[in-house]
Amino acid sequence: VTLLMETILDGLNAAQHDAVTSPANVLQVLAPPGSGKTKTLTSRVAYLLRHDRYRPWNVICLTFTIKSSREMKERISKLIGNGIESKLILGTFHSVCRRYLVTYGHLIGIHKGFGIADSTDTTSIIKRVIRRLGLTIDPKKAQSRISSLKSRGLTHTELGQQEATRKDVEQQEFAVVFGAYENQLAQSNLLDYDDLLLRSVDLLRQHPSCVSNVEVVLIDEFQDTNLVQFDLMRLFAAKHKRITTVGDPDQSIYGWRSAEIENLKRMQKQYPDTVVIHLEDNYRSSAAILLAAQEVIEQDESRPSKSLLPTHCPGTVPVLRRLPSADVEAQWIVSEILRVACLTGNLLTYSDFAILLRSASLSRQVEAAMGKAGIPYRMVGGQRFFDRVEIKILLDYLRVLSQPHNNDALSRILNIPARGVGTTTAKGLLEEAEMRRVSLWIHIRDAIQGHASIRTKISKAVEHGLGSFTNIILTARKICIDDVHPQSPVDLLRYIIKKLDFKAYLHKYYDNDHESRWANVEELIAQAAEYPVSGNDVLREKKDDDRLPKIEGLEQEIGNAAEEALAKFLANVALATEFQREDDELQNGRPLSQVTISTIHAAKGLEWPVVFVPSAYDGCIPHSRAEDTDEERRLLYVAMTRAQALLYMSCPTKNSHREETMLSSFLSTKKVGEFLTNKGPTVDLDTVKDISRILRRGSPSMVEVVEASKKLQNREDSLWPLNGKEDNGSLQARWSKWDLDAGDEQVSKRRRLEDG
Ligand code: ATP
Ligand code: MG
Repeated sequence: VTLLMETILDGLNAAQHDAVTSPANVLQVLAPPGSGKTKTLTSRVAYLLRHDRYRPWNVICLTFTIKSSREMKERISKLIGNGIESKLILGTFHSVCRRYLVTYGHLIGIHKGFGIADSTDTTSIIKRVIRRLGLTIDPKKAQSRISSLKSRGLTHTELGQQEATRKDVEQQEFAVVFGAYENQLAQSNLLDYDDLLLRSVDLLRQHPSCVSNVEVVLIDEFQDTNLVQFDLMRLFAAKHKRITTVGDPDQSIYGWRSAEIENLKRMQKQYPDTVVIHLEDNYRSSAAILLAAQEVIEQDESRPSKSLLPTHCPGTVPVLRRLPSADVEAQWIVSEILRVACLTGNLLTYSDFAILLRSASLSRQVEAAMGKAGIPYRMVGGQRFFDRVEIKILLDYLRVLSQPHNNDALSRILNIPARGVGTTTAKGLLEEAEMRRVSLWIHIRDAIQGHASIRTKISKAVEHGLGSFTNIILTARKICIDDVHPQSPVDLLRYIIKKLDFKAYLHKYYDNDHESRWANVEELIAQAAEYPVSGNDVLREKKDDDRLPKIEGLEQEIGNAAEEALAKFLANVALATEFQREDDELQNGRPLSQVTISTIHAAKGLEWPVVFVPSAYDGCIPHSRAEDTDEERRLLYVAMTRAQALLYMSCPTKNSHREETMLSSFLSTKKVGEFLTNKGPTVDLDTVKDISRILRRGSPSMVEVVEASKKLQNREDSLWPLNGKEDNGSLQARWSKWDLDAGDEQVSKRRRLEDG
């Protein structure tokens, strides 16, 4: 035990040690990026389990992204092992809430086997509702307003009562849309992301005994919680009132999704015995990076001043470059990656590099340049795997199998592959189903049976098409529900693929790239295979980490094993599409070393030795549509503080619409400029030493570095654009003509403006 305790507490600094071992019931850790908040939270979980003998199934641990919950599980496992970590109630807010609703949802009238509406479903439901009601309200606006109300805990009935007294037509219309949207979800037995949280609040308010076992609640990235999440925290901790949160107000970047930075103060008010601990030392980044990041965040004068205290050497000064175009910018990034990777020998691999973007749509040039250079990369938060057409089709089939009343999924696949049910017919059927207040599935069944009240005329051919569709679903469902030989999701998927002759379908419709699409299908099959079904209930009980602790008489009858496995697979897909599942691609069973391209939002809490932040121009960051400039600044701050050793920021002189750009106003002040350079960086032996010191990885020997740089001298492309060799027409030539000091020019222009 002593030995174990040593591993848990080993290497923590005094403040971290205090936080990990604090006897306080309610603890709030407030600290800047890279100060070890997540490390502290993880160690505290291990400490509570080991030292205070909490049982893991009574500990709730909440994170924001799937990646961070997985990382936390790994770290805890390293600290205490024994598979105990898999018994914790650990996950994102949404996934933990889903578990509670699956187990206890029936207590508040949620039907068994509910599906999750992802943002595509939500959009299409809202659009349809608006069209059907003949309203003119903008669907995008309605959607974000619905979500923002729901994340503040307001339901449509409450809103309806308020709106009824108002005269404003638009507000009245909105209230109607909101109500119709909610009805539609209920009819399809779907919950949207906000519902997962909101309905869990309902559940725990009405049946607090569902969480009577919970002894302690821990939350990472607390600054980004919204009001509903705050309520959840309160309700989870209702019995023992033991809570630990860690967060940083300077990194609050989800205001646009109704995060309430006030939750930090609200927590102290709600629990007057809250003990607040500050961590100060930064273990992540070089001092040079911290100085620059600090200057950026300090521009917000309303913020209480605090500093980032480095524990590392000064290191290499962050680079800010102005480049002639987004294409050149992308090529510059690629050449820097190659150069740094080569020059640092075996110190860095591709997975040590990240390119962080203000929005996923900026990735095109970078992706193209990476592809050309043959550098493996993975996209986080961009066109996502589950959004690809071929994947969506198959998933929609599985969703209909799991939940035939899901009108949206059903109407999308009704005519895929073509069965003679044209768009107009499909639309007519759906509209009439909605008018009859039955699901499309039931409506189609009635139509085939020639139900008297059906007005939509269907021809023999359509009837045949509908029949063959329902047949596939019914047969597959029969297989699924077969209790003797329950089929796992992957069997169902294979069955559907075979029935649809999906490979031939792809071949027929996607002549150019059917092979890569089929490869995606195979990838989906591999993922589905991770959700086996076990026919033996006792075994299942033991194996399934996802089960909440038993509370006598409250939990729901477990459904058919096959249905349950399918629902779990689909739920994980739905939650992953929202919060960016990003699995490392494997090569020979080992993670492939890939450069990460990610949105800044999805990079929260993570770190890389080398970070690029391109497109740093006004309009992009701060974004032209952003309402809160301070939040945009914090976003840049989050991006910069992801870097450990080398930080590159850059700005093309023209954006993708060929409009002139201005360097981001966050970077163009004189003060920030003092901590940035537009020269280099030269990756010399000193830089390599910096990097290895910061990363605490063994540094390559002097000989290795010298050898590497010799090799590079023969490869002028990888030294570009620093060699500046004239070569008419080539990029290098264009580059060398382009003034290296253009960045300075921009800065001085701004300075002149500032100085009046
Ligand atoms: P963010 O605000 O970005 O989420 P954080 O405060 O959660 O950052 P961590 O991710 O926990 O910070 O830690 C940052 C890095 O510093 C990690 O690599 C971690 O292992 C390291 N670290 C934290 N504390 C220590 C320590 N006492 N000694 C050495 N390294 C540490
Ligand atoms: Mg963290």
